[in-house]
Amino acid sequence: TELSHIRNFSIVAHIDHGKSTLADRLIQSTNTVSAREMKAQLLDAMDIERERGITIKANTVRIEYKADNGEVYILNLIDTPGHVDFAYEVSRSMRAVEGSLLVVDSTQGVEAQTLANVYQAIDANHEIVPVLNKIDLPAADCARVAEQIEDVIGIDASEALQVSAKSGIGIHETLEAIVHRLPAPTGDAGKPLTAMLVDSWYDAYLGVVVLVRVMDGVLKKGDRVKMMQNGSIHLVDRIGVFRPAMQDVKELGPGEIGFITAQIKQVRDTRVGDTITHEKKGADKALPGFKPSQPVVFCGLFPVDAAEFEDLRDAIEKLALNDASFSYEMETSAALGFGFRCGFLGLLHLEVIRDRLEREYDIDLITTAPSVIYHIYMRDGTLVELHNPADMPDMTLIDHIEEPRIKATILVPDEYLGDVLKLCQDRRGIQLDLTYAGSRAMVVYDLPLNEVVFDFYDRLKSVTKGYASFDYHLMGYREDALVKMSILVNDEPVDALSMMVHRDRAEMRGRAMVEKLKELIPRHMFKIPIQAAIGGKVIARETLSAMRKDVTAKCYGGDATRKRKLLDKQKAGKKKMRQFGKVDIPQEAFINALKMD
Ligand code: GDP
Ligand code: MG
Repeated sequence: TELSHIRNFSIVAHIDHGKSTLADRLIQSTNTVSAREMKAQLLDAMDIERERGITIKANTVRIEYKADNGEVYILNLIDTPGHVDFAYEVSRSMRAVEGSLLVVDSTQGVEAQTLANVYQAIDANHEIVPVLNKIDLPAADCARVAEQIEDVIGIDASEALQVSAKSGIGIHETLEAIVHRLPAPTGDAGKPLTAMLVDSWYDAYLGVVVLVRVMDGVLKKGDRVKMMQNGSIHLVDRIGVFRPAMQDVKELGPGEIGFITAQIKQVRDTRVGDTITHEKKGADKALPGFKPSQPVVFCGLFPVDAAEFEDLRDAIEKLALNDASFSYEMETSAALGFGFRCGFLGLLHLEVIRDRLEREYDIDLITTAPSVIYHIYMRDGTLVELHNPADMPDMTLIDHIEEPRIKATILVPDEYLGDVLKLCQDRRGIQLDLTYAGSRAMVVYDLPLNEVVFDFYDRLKSVTKGYASFDYHLMGYREDALVKMSILVNDEPVDALSMMVHRDRAEMRGRAMVEKLKELIPRHMFKIPIQAAIGGKVIARETLSAMRKDVTAKCYGGDATRKRKLLDKQKAGKKKMRQFGKVDIPQEAFINALKMD
């Protein structure tokens, strides 16, 4: 295809503002798929995505559009994830296209993720077309939202499109705007091949599929290509485009987006952001590289039933095949036995993986307290990266500890501002900025990531009745007075519950934890002390009193089957529990004990 007849674009939006609905509408109105094949939210393939209404993997579709001027254009849409955890994935797909539709819900206005995503588009030098969506709703206020886009984002919104993705209003205008307002890609078919590796995933039938954007040169089936990062050579055995089903093509030229397969075994062998060139007469300079995405949140995943360890290993390996940003290694815990220490891009990512393990693979899991990576500076000058509080070195050997800090941007209606400031203050936040856009406040906070990973987002939603939006990025590491707090149940430390806390908050957290655990652990035949401690010093203590009666006592001398039935019933109730010494702790306790209210 001629470059002048190609348009590559992405859609940026805050979650729920209608990105997927608009994408579906563009696909449908160009007859890219037949009505029979059309199911709502075509681009959101996985069940979890569909249920939660979020898009996780970037997806791509090639649309052919005959414009009003009679010419046929190829429109390549790369759909990007909308959630904060996946900012890096957004940024790399942005580099593969020249323009963006900025979708803003005209009943809501600009939100935190609108800002975060649009800044990425601006960084990638995109031409941006604002789209005011949901104009079918009575609460739509296009004038106000257009003004907000100009004030807050600083881009011209005078020619913003007015659209209802749901009822199909303004879709034709959107297609025309893509053709006439977004730039065509540039590139030279005569130059050595440079293709950007945008994404890759594992397909059960095809093996690893690689999404590429060709910058210069031409990529063909049968080519021997080189991954420039590590020099590995692969034979391209299939090449095609997504419509959105895979369709083979002969070649991909400059400006085109499509996929290749090349007998690559694992997703890990493909580095996102890498440059693909030909083995012979290849380019000698790679495209400006991206940083690989790094896990920032870690937690342990253990099977409730130790017999399920092998199943868990299989399931984790399968998920990792398809998700290079998810890391794992085996971990053994005194209390929990064999499991895995896993790294995630953020909390949502953690939840998605945990959900998939439980639902798709049917494994009951114990999730230990999420933790960030601490930098422990030892007295002897060495640096230890601590991923797991259980591995904390002896305090006397430590010089100081640094923790990751984030810059968080929160947009919130005025009336909830006070609650938001209090929440951030409680989490050791430092206010950096506070501005207003209409009746909404935008606050920027410097916060410790460890105070955010657990339940900050949930708390924020609850104190603002769902009206606040939130986005963050890592800023770097800073020293603070951090200590490891251990939890002892029946005098035995439960390492899965140990956590790093700020010294000034340790007592409060410890008290809250032991009180919660007292509610969450069922009574036993004996009394159970529950303690929080720092080093050898107990800072909070509760005692769970003993159960009054043996439930089987009244069966003495009686009917043996009845007694067995009762015991079986007790056993079933314990299924989701793990034994720690003599104490059974239910699965939910591990997560719930950490929630602060
Ligand atoms: P995404 O999170 O940005 O992908 O948003 P979705 O496309 O999943 O849409 C979120 C919700 O808004 C869904 O319930 C859609 O049906 C609804 N929605 C999307 N576009 C419109 C629209 O133009 N009008 C109305 N009334 N609802 C819409
Ligand atoms: Mg969506």
